[in-house]
Amino acid sequence: MPRGIRLCTYILSGRARHIRSMTTTLHADCALVAGQWQRDVRVSIDAAGRIASVHTDALPQAGDQRLSDRVLLPAPGNLHSHAFQRAMAGRTERRSGANDSFWTWREQMYRFVDRMTPDHLLAVAALAYVEMLEAGYAAVAEFHYLHHAVGGAAYANIAETTSRIVAATETAGIGLTHLPVLYQRGGLDGRPPAGGQQRFACDADRFATLMSAARDVLARTRPDARLGVAPHSLRAVDSGGLKLAIELVQGGPIHIHIAEQTGEVDEVLAATGLRPVQWLLEHVPVDDRWCLLHATHLDDAEVASLAASGATVGLAPVTEANLGDGIFRAVDFRDAGGRFGIGTDSNVRIDLAEELRTLEYGQRLQRRSRAVIADDDYSNGRVLFDAACAGGAAALGRASGEIAPGNWADLLTLDRTRLDLAGVTGDGWLDAWIFSAPGRVVRDVWSAGHHRVRDGRHVEREAVEAAYRRTLAELTG
Ligand code: ZN
Repeated sequence: MPRGIRLCTYILSGRARHIRSMTTTLHADCALVAGQWQRDVRVSIDAAGRIASVHTDALPQAGDQRLSDRVLLPAPGNLHSHAFQRAMAGRTERRSGANDSFWTWREQMYRFVDRMTPDHLLAVAALAYVEMLEAGYAAVAEFHYLHHAVGGAAYANIAETTSRIVAATETAGIGLTHLPVLYQRGGLDGRPPAGGQQRFACDADRFATLMSAARDVLARTRPDARLGVAPHSLRAVDSGGLKLAIELVQGGPIHIHIAEQTGEVDEVLAATGLRPVQWLLEHVPVDDRWCLLHATHLDDAEVASLAASGATVGLAPVTEANLGDGIFRAVDFRDAGGRFGIGTDSNVRIDLAEELRTLEYGQRLQRRSRAVIADDDYSNGRVLFDAACAGGAAALGRASGEIAPGNWADLLTLDRTRLDLAGVTGDGWLDAWIFSAPGRVVRDVWSAGHHRVRDGRHVEREAVEAAYRRTLAELTG
């Protein structure tokens, strides 16, 4: 059987398994509910995958799924992913010039993109999403810019690659906020997209058609899927493009890369006289629907005005370290009342605990101090985990981030039998998981009520991994 058909058959069978038809009730010895650690917690999940009720100090009843020796937590959303880049992970660590940088990495990425077919994209994204679930994420905001065929010609179905992303989320069973990217130009000087960028490029009409087609595709998938939009960056989109994106998304989430590299700050400053975040806040009505990705290089005024805007800052500390971006002003932004969340971006590593640990360690190395993100009441692990939950929910526009009636049943458990979790309790479980436990201590993950990770392993890992291995052989052969 040709590989494409084999994948399609597999995906169709996967889709059938995602139809929930029953209510489920979980009983956990301990759980984090509405910001408090509670004992004997019963969580009922309705047929649609939403939390119907939460009861504390409740005895287990017949038919309950018992979560013994586990801690039940809300599962955060991953607020930033380029799934296709998972296949490049670990393959860009050779020096490509005297000064290897984000910009030389980007050239490698463009060359890689030119090998990728829609079938490849499906297989790579499915593996990335399986790994995200295993790491503890229940949903993903996919910042999707690989729209067209090599050279920039549209596929017969303009939403071809969007369909593959949606199929990959169905295979893995992860919640999706899909963000089609608007990419108009190769730089602030207005030069046209060139080389690998041609696969991303859209003018206004093409992008409007693409957004409409994407909306149709999402209407046929899980009910928790959402459509957002992603004007790529101030380099790639002009003010007319920003206006268009805001119109087309009809109230959905809006994500943009911004101030990730000092080179980008310099380019925007030279072209407009303003720094990138300053320019955006002065020209566009940024509010809590917005997620500004990275925002690494901010001055004091930008820290204050960005926090006041209500937007979420989307951090991806492992990718930011890998690409040498710099260190986000997390403490200043937190003190100004700003909200941030966590994503996996290039997917060079897919590990929620590592993202949170890397964020804290960057702050420590910069400030030569310890327990930087912690506050007077809560530990590092607790503050970081709460931020990931709240920031992920806001950025994905997803009712989640807390174990509460009405939210999607996005849940995870930590395995309390693991040595590193022995002898601790409450926030200590989060600290032990994030800062000390080797490997993964995430034992179960549910996404909108679908129980996709059991005993630390995704239920479809074997098949998805096999398809990924075949794809990688083609991509790197
Ligand atoms: Zn990105």
